[in-house]
Amino acid sequence: MYTSIQLTSSVRETFISHCIANKPMEACGFLLGCIEVTQIRITSFVPVANASRNPERQFSMNASDMIPVVLNNTFTIVGILHSHPNAAATPSSEDLSTTWYDIPSHWIVSLQQPTIEIAAYQYTHNYQSPNSFTETQTTKFPKKQAQYYPIPIILIEDE
Ligand SMILES: [Zn+2]
Repeated sequence: MYTSIQLTSSVRETFISHCIANKPMEACGFLLGCIEVTQIRITSFVPVANASRNPERQFSMNASDMIPVVLNNTFTIVGILHSHPNAAATPSSEDLSTTWYDIPSHWIVSLQQPTIEIAAYQYTHNYQSPNSFTETQTTKFPKKQAQYYPIPIILIEDE
């Protein structure tokens, strides 16, 4: 479990501007940085175009923006960020069905209120054996859903 994330004001401003510029569509991107034991430190934000066919309600990372970031091994992806133009900063059931759940932190920027809300979560999968699912649960949750835990964000001034 990660205990906290350090975020600088300048990176925060960069991703907030990107999310606002894409409104009413969901914006997305990667957060790069490093991990020191149980602490995550964010050093930069890389915007990625939202390639979803329904971009007001979901995001899907544009492959040509995403692949160079994923393949570049000179830095570490420590977070995936997306915006909720009209919803709170809590993961939707679709967000929890992500195949990227092993990325250390998942960020949601909510633009629904005049005050912008930012939350970061760690997603974890609990691998239950198929036998432990009842018929009803399988129908209700057709896809694997991650569980999520908030990670406290510590805002720091730029050096
Ligand atoms: Zn979402």
